Amino acid sequence: MADCLFCRIVAGDVPAQRVAETARAIAFRDINPQAPTHVLVIPKDHYPDLAALAAAGGGLLDEVAALAHEVAADEGVSETGYRVVLNTGPQAGQTVFHAHAHLLGGRPLAWPPG
Ligand code: 5GP
Ligand code: ZN
Repeated sequence: MADCLFCRIVAGDVPAQRVAETARAIAFRDINPQAPTHVLVIPKDHYPDLAALAAAGGGLLDEVAALAHEVAADEGVSETGYRVVLNTGPQAGQTVFHAHAHLLGGRPLAWPPG
């Protein structure tokens, strides 16, 4: 989708600090990090939110989750602990409507989130 920021990152039209990639997903650093590790993991194809990504099937959501764990291990936070968040809908704070998993780690994370 030409007017989607994350589609433009996938296409390379908008620069991003990529840290990992699979056939169907990429991971790049959040521009406004909320933790020492704050990486966004997204499907390369456009799905507006978690529901659409889950409905895609074919193991795509698994691939996103597995890539998040792989990046957590690469970043050295898989043992200390990390959080994977998919904000879904306006009240949850979703601002980019291309499904993305936030990978957060490297500091204690409060629960419940705000
Ligand atoms: P949401 O609020 O939709 O769950 O998360 C969107 C995330 O995208 C935010 O954490 C925001 O900082 C990040 N973001 C917004 N614009 C850009 C950008 O141009 N590049 C990168 N790397 N991250 C972005
Ligand atoms: Zn998109």
